[in-house]
Amino acid sequence: MMISDPITQGLASAWQHLDGALQQDAQHLECDVLIVGSGAGGGMCAQVLAEAGLAVILVEQGPLKSSQDFKLQERYAYPDLYQESAARKTKDKAIRIFQGRCVGGSTTVNWTTSLRTPEPTLQHWQQHWGLSPLSGAALAPYFAKAEQMLNIQPWLNHNPNNALLAKGCEKLNWSYQSIPRNVKQCWDLGYCGMGCPTNAKQSMLVTAIPAALNAGARILSRFSVERLLIKQQQLQGASLQALDAKLRPSGITVTVRARQVVLAAGAIGSPAVLLRSKVPDPYQLVGKRTFLHPSVMSGALFTQTVNSHQGAPQSVYSDHFVWQDGAEGECGYKMEVPPVHPILLATTLSGFGHFHQQLMARYPHLQVTIALLRDGFHPDSPGGTVQLREDGSPVLDYPLHEFMWRGARRALLSMAELQFAAGARRVFPLHEQARLYRSWSEAKQAIASLPMQALATRLASAHVMGGCAMGGDERSSLVDHQGQYRWLSGLTVIDGSVFPTSLGANPQLTIYALALRNAELLVKRLRG
Ligand SMILES: Cc1cc2nc3c(=O)[nH]c(=O)nc-3n(C[C@H](O)[C@H](O)[C@H](O)COP(=O)(O)OP(=O)(O)OC[C@H]3O[C@@H](n4cnc5c(N)ncnc54)[C@H](O)[C@@H]3O)c2cc1C
Repeated sequence: MMISDPITQGLASAWQHLDGALQQDAQHLECDVLIVGSGAGGGMCAQVLAEAGLAVILVEQGPLKSSQDFKLQERYAYPDLYQESAARKTKDKAIRIFQGRCVGGSTTVNWTTSLRTPEPTLQHWQQHWGLSPLSGAALAPYFAKAEQMLNIQPWLNHNPNNALLAKGCEKLNWSYQSIPRNVKQCWDLGYCGMGCPTNAKQSMLVTAIPAALNAGARILSRFSVERLLIKQQQLQGASLQALDAKLRPSGITVTVRARQVVLAAGAIGSPAVLLRSKVPDPYQLVGKRTFLHPSVMSGALFTQTVNSHQGAPQSVYSDHFVWQDGAEGECGYKMEVPPVHPILLATTLSGFGHFHQQLMARYPHLQVTIALLRDGFHPDSPGGTVQLREDGSPVLDYPLHEFMWRGARRALLSMAELQFAAGARRVFPLHEQARLYRSWSEAKQAIASLPMQALATRLASAHVMGGCAMGGDERSSLVDHQGQYRWLSGLTVIDGSVFPTSLGANPQLTIYALALRNAELLVKRLRG
């Protein structure tokens, strides 16, 4: 079957694309709006601004790939499409972080779960962060618009990995729901994390970015924004480094002069640009309160084959424990499943040698459940801080405190209970000192005394949020509810970095809705 490829078609038509790896000379460019980063925030914003008739330049540090490049193999996907080849970690290496680094950003590689911001999160933001304009009712039209643009609909064809999550919940009488996904004519392959080879995933790569380029926006791939250009407190544009084919700076610099810069480099990339640019920041907030939904994981072996790498990666979730103790109470957790591909599994599994090899050998029978800890709502959960290494690259320092560890232990207990209820023969929490447990009572006793410690308890995150907090008070927030940076005119932040807490839900739809809203407001401001 012929797969239509909007990227190769667009490039063959009138799209304006500059590839940093082919750049020979320094250059100066001009535009109305320079957008830094082409993920959920940057992509959506580019479409709104370009269709409003503004001259837009979209800069992305990763490569421009298309469905023809997506080979369904981890060995190519991770180095080609992910930050730090999918091996990005927090400063103490305790939490593995997945983020995209390619045109379309993390949306090119994400797992398609598309959920609206939970109402308790918006209420918390209104009550504690001065964000009264962001009520559920006020955002509803933007959610609806994003859902329509990206064909977001519930997916009811659950693969066994997801079906076992549903089964466990049913047995225990825990609530669960089907997940809406942003796909069109999906082949149900299960390789979303390696880039969609059929263009079914309605990521920014095949939706908003082509729309923006069709409307005249220019795209620069393999260019990294090093710093913003600021003269006498005025933002003038940015200085870019061209990157070679291995994404190393080639030494060629491009400057872009712009009336407005939109920072959309993601929740580690955006604070990094601000830190490198030494922007005014009187309350030292840049990069602070960065959240992860740190996720603990539980493996389970079933008699039947599960083949957790096949089929839509996420289609069932359980919010049974997310808000149980109230938004500001003990750490809640959302339960989902991940796709389980061999490299991902091998590098995440605890244990080594024979133990590790035995588990890998039973790969087809493995079900994995994850619990996403809702960080940022409680005073004892302040998140992490983005810092710069000596070479200017960012690293996230995310210390884990007792509050989060209590949540982690409860989540590991819930997942083991759930997996045994679903019929698991063995359950093993991903923890260096855990073993294969034969029954819920054995697991319950063992998990109660596992030491909850960095590097012993396996943790991962695909949801990086915060670091440029949005709010009503200048002492605690860097941008207002429109994303306008408080201390530098001409700078707006439109990506997941503006969340003042985590969400307690997968973030892409919240970013799309906020981007649609705040890009529209930016158009109004620019038109004066
Ligand atoms: C494997 C994976 C699975 C996920 N699954 C889901 C899911 O199922 N549902 C969901 O809701 N969310 C999911 N997410 C998270 C979701 O995709 C992100 O929260 C969202 O895309 C973040 O949007 P953003 O605009 O903040 O940043 P991103 O989408 O990450 O985009 C930022 C872009 O900026 C670029 N950039 C950074 N610094 C610079 C610079 N200096 N110069 C130029 N460019 C720069 C980056 O390369 C990147 O492409 C997943 C993420 C991953 C990685």
